[in-house]
Amino acid sequence: MSLINLANDDFRNHLYNQTKDGKRLWIYPGRIIGQLYKLRSYFSYLLLTLLFGLPWIVHKGQPIFLFNVIERKFIFWGVPFYPQDFHLVALGLVCFLIFISLFTVLFGRIWCGWACPQTIFMEMLFRKIEYWIEGDDKAQRRLNESTWTNEKIAKKGSKHTLFILVAFAISNTFLMYIIGKPEWLQIVTGNPREHIKGLIVMLIFTAIFYLVFARFREMVCMVVCPYGRLQGVLLDNNSILVQYDHVRGEPRGKAVKMETKGDCIDCHWCVRVCPTGIDIRNGSNQLECIGCTSCIDACDAVMEKIDKPTGLIRYDSYNGVNSGTKLKFTTRIGAYSSVLVLIVGILTYLLITRKSWESTLLRTPGMTFQVDEKLQTVSNLYNLEILNKSMEDQTFTVRVDKPLELIWIGQKLGKIEKGKQVKTEFFIRTTIGSWKQGEKIPIHIQDNQGKEETLKTSFIQPND
Ligand code: SF4
Ligand code: SF4
Repeated sequence: MSLINLANDDFRNHLYNQTKDGKRLWIYPGRIIGQLYKLRSYFSYLLLTLLFGLPWIVHKGQPIFLFNVIERKFIFWGVPFYPQDFHLVALGLVCFLIFISLFTVLFGRIWCGWACPQTIFMEMLFRKIEYWIEGDDKAQRRLNESTWTNEKIAKKGSKHTLFILVAFAISNTFLMYIIGKPEWLQIVTGNPREHIKGLIVMLIFTAIFYLVFARFREMVCMVVCPYGRLQGVLLDNNSILVQYDHVRGEPRGKAVKMETKGDCIDCHWCVRVCPTGIDIRNGSNQLECIGCTSCIDACDAVMEKIDKPTGLIRYDSYNGVNSGTKLKFTTRIGAYSSVLVLIVGILTYLLITRKSWESTLLRTPGMTFQVDEKLQTVSNLYNLEILNKSMEDQTFTVRVDKPLELIWIGQKLGKIEKGKQVKTEFFIRTTIGSWKQGEKIPIHIQDNQGKEETLKTSFIQPND
């Protein structure tokens, strides 16, 4: 993407929060409360309520979301998924990646600014606590540079205590998503000696969240997050981003007599409020821009003060700024959309037709047929596994058609508890010569809802 042609493009050579010799520069973003900030706040309260509230909701004795990677148990909107559903999970992930790509082509980093947990926790929880205790950016800088006094100890102490408490709450919430509410409750209410591992994990999570939001901060977006790295390849000149209108704003500076200047008065408010410390006037497609819209609010406030139209910094495309053209439907968007619709269609079909149980039938490996000379019968041994994938206990029956006969030697199927798998064995027996050589035999499995599945498997017998 083209950028404004700047004489001084030193900003390209190092991160904004680093000195030229690589030292970290602490960023003190100024506080600005504008229309977009208010909207983002309301939206973040909704997301935070969902994030902290959902693990407490139990449906049919199970959480409605669970990502238990340790036990390979996953629940999504109340629907349990098992390793046997891996194809659905893989397809869901592909779907998600294509959606993210398409969305980014259209709307840039709107996810980063409005919905990413890192931004929401940082800007809507930790930053607000910091403003509340230490004051605005200037007060924070003064406090950091001042010598240690009782006031500084009290402010820093209370801020970091609150930070640790919030990190602890986030850590516990994430743990609930991983192990589920009942197991989490056992850890926090049970004898600590019996839950050492769980408590250690909880403390490690807390320490990580605390360090991320108290120290690492914008470095997550600049250095760690792979999504930020992808922006350069996904965005084009029609992507909607937070844009500085250089056509209207340049040449920047305060107008003096007989001199024509653009609308940007070079007040630096947009830079001062930026949580990653960048200057949006250097171009919209900067790696560090998380699309948080603070610079839009800041510049609009300045424009109102100097009696100029707002929107010098706004959501727009680069082409929109240059020529006034609206968002175009490009071939790339068309191709992404078609693939997305196709995959979502397949995924929806697979989800709708997904059975609430999964069965696997195998003729017992390494076993040959058994002949009973006296009864003139031949039999084969089979292994059957049934996984009850539903949230309720289910009852199963197995039957075969004549002239076949089923003889249980393992557990006769009956009730299988929710989420449980049962393995059993049985013989299929028939009179010698009554079943066609090489023909597969059908075995019918039925659940208590009357849903039936017929599995076909080989049946070996002596040659005629
Ligand atoms: S806030 Fe607006 S007027 Fe001030 S420097 Fe930024 S773009 Fe220019
Ligand atoms: S440039 Fe503007 S939108 Fe981008 S991170 Fe900074 S304040 Fe937020």
